[in-house]
Amino acid sequence: MEGFTTRIVHSDRLDPIEHGSLHKPVHSNVAYGYSDARELAAVFQGTKAGMTYGRQVNPTVTALEAKLTRMEQGVQTVCFSTGMAAIGSLIFSLLRAGDHFVSSAFLFGNTNSLFQTFATHGVDVTFVDATSVEAVEAAITPRTRLVFVETIANPRTQVAALEEIGALCRARGLIYVVDNTMTSPYLFQPRTVGASLVVNSLTKYIGGHGNALGGAITDVGNFDWASFDNILEIYRKGAPERFGITQIRKKGLRDFGAALAPEAAHHIAVGAETLALRQDRQCSNAAAMTALLEAHPKVARVYYPGLPSHPQHDRARALFRHPGALFSFELRPDVDIWEFQARLDVIVKSSNLGDNRTLAIPVAHTIYYEMGPERRASMGIAESLIRISVGIEDTTDLIADLERALAGE
Ligand SMILES: *Cc1c(COP(=O)(O)O)cnc(C)c1O
Repeated sequence: MEGFTTRIVHSDRLDPIEHGSLHKPVHSNVAYGYSDARELAAVFQGTKAGMTYGRQVNPTVTALEAKLTRMEQGVQTVCFSTGMAAIGSLIFSLLRAGDHFVSSAFLFGNTNSLFQTFATHGVDVTFVDATSVEAVEAAITPRTRLVFVETIANPRTQVAALEEIGALCRARGLIYVVDNTMTSPYLFQPRTVGASLVVNSLTKYIGGHGNALGGAITDVGNFDWASFDNILEIYRKGAPERFGITQIRKKGLRDFGAALAPEAAHHIAVGAETLALRQDRQCSNAAAMTALLEAHPKVARVYYPGLPSHPQHDRARALFRHPGALFSFELRPDVDIWEFQARLDVIVKSSNLGDNRTLAIPVAHTIYYEMGPERRASMGIAESLIRISVGIEDTTDLIADLERALAGE
């Protein structure tokens, strides 16, 4: 099964599945009974495959994990209740007090906030401009264990130096974590640039329908876990390529407890089947909308990696199947952003992204409000910046909506 969508839609039945069902059923089950206590003990000790307790393992979630592993062409995946839970559990289970990591400064807002909290617990972070490998390299110290980047940043769409940072991490023996949420494994597979662990918020493009929260970490097989001394002795069993995910599953998922609900796993698995179809449409809509906006006299600037004016346009073209379905733009000072948004009819005013519906949000006044005007200015977030997460609506309706709102009708 070579093609991306073929792999997804036939994933469940590649493993034994009840009654020949074509979807893995929802197992809304917490505990598992064993007729023999010796077997129960063997399952707990990991010498026999089996189910222990719903916080650690669930058949519906296991099927989704296998699907995600196939999508990223990785080794193993562990799911969490949200994307934030995946990121938090990753840092929590792999780093220790005194360790340091380097992170892109162009980061999902809650991830930025989370990393600052880790610093108060003794795991230090340095934020750098990850569009430049030199900036990442300059921040590395003898205590650095990990580098964290996103593929395309939100809302200004900076594209990290993904390939160069991968080479740097390999040379320095650092764990390379790539948050692939904005691209998804359909547009980009971080395995190809040397990522160690790939994070996906399943809430966004993979689930796609805005009806379930979820997150995942996939080990894509590039990191030598045997040489990483934060792996505890008890998890150094079997194939070394599994040490990292085993420790994340035990110390992160089991002990921290942010398990993905089986019903949410089912919604996400169904959504994932159409990921490629949806993203093809969303990305072509984004291309049409940004072309219109960039040429419009009432628009000051458009940020979208698909535009030749974007500073990392060539990098995006080289790495991604399409340049994403999220863009942002600034209106000219004489255009009132509130009146403009009030005139939008098809495009919904909402904070989410990756939905089937096109969503718009005034960035400085909402998701970046808490930062204050100075930090916003330092991050290049203009007061008039509007972010659009492009949906699957008919292109002509989206274009007409923008034209009408810009014309002031
Ligand atoms: C939304 C998002 C997250 C967090 O995911 P949730 O499922 O909302 O917790 C992490 N990273 C990126 C890039 C995101 O867009």
